[in-house]
Amino acid sequence: MTETNFIHRKIGRITWTAYQKHLTREPIIFLPVGALEQHGPHLPMGCDAIFSEEVSLRVAEALNGLVLPPLTYGYKSQARSGGGQLFPGTTSLDGQTLTSMVQDILREVARHGVKRVAVINGHVENQWFLTEGIDLALREAKSNGNQMQIVRCEYWNFTPQDVLESLFEGAFPGVDLEHAALIETSMMLALYPSFVDLDNLPVDAYGQFPNYDSYPQNGHGVPASGVLAPASQSSAEKGNLLINSTVNAMVSALQNEFLIS
Ligand SMILES: [Zn+2]
Repeated sequence: MTETNFIHRKIGRITWTAYQKHLTREPIIFLPVGALEQHGPHLPMGCDAIFSEEVSLRVAEALNGLVLPPLTYGYKSQARSGGGQLFPGTTSLDGQTLTSMVQDILREVARHGVKRVAVINGHVENQWFLTEGIDLALREAKSNGNQMQIVRCEYWNFTPQDVLESLFEGAFPGVDLEHAALIETSMMLALYPSFVDLDNLPVDAYGQFPNYDSYPQNGHGVPASGVLAPASQSSAEKGNLLINSTVNAMVSALQNEFLIS
């Protein structure tokens, strides 16, 4: 990945003195969270962290915010949303570890005096562990007299319904089954086309799951490719539409939530 976009938004690329100067205007601080998880034979395993960081950078650009280095590991993959833990390469954290990492980072930004944080999630399975880290950090901040407001966003929830309908022509399989499928493949084609191995795009198939999870995980119903819904209709054009509409909706939502005029 050549690092050219939005470097000035990345906290890991600026000095502490520049960061301190930014803090005087009380910027929204973004924490992108992803996973290291199989994304089919055609997409890199770091997809979820790449997307959450790229969305964060664009929203931060619009709102004059700053973006923390992404968490590039996440909670354990589940069969019905990521194919499960049985694929080589999928490398996951215990829930407690993820919760603690989020709590630790939020404790530190609270110490810096940050008042507004947006946790941008790119991996379905992370949601409640992020929530727990946020809750514990806020409890701590409150007892230390720090005021902090935190918003947790699953970026896919911001994609407008009419965009999904136009891209899927009425056949949107739902976010969970969209793992490594049309949405993620299109977004990667738009962002980093060289990361997509189009020669290895799997034959279109859907995960066939019961309405329960079975443990230990057995891989039943997971297509051998690890891709849970059709990806063959992906394109960079669709990816740009997805990214732009999602970013715009998140900008409005955060403006509204954080009362930026
Ligand atoms: Zn993903």
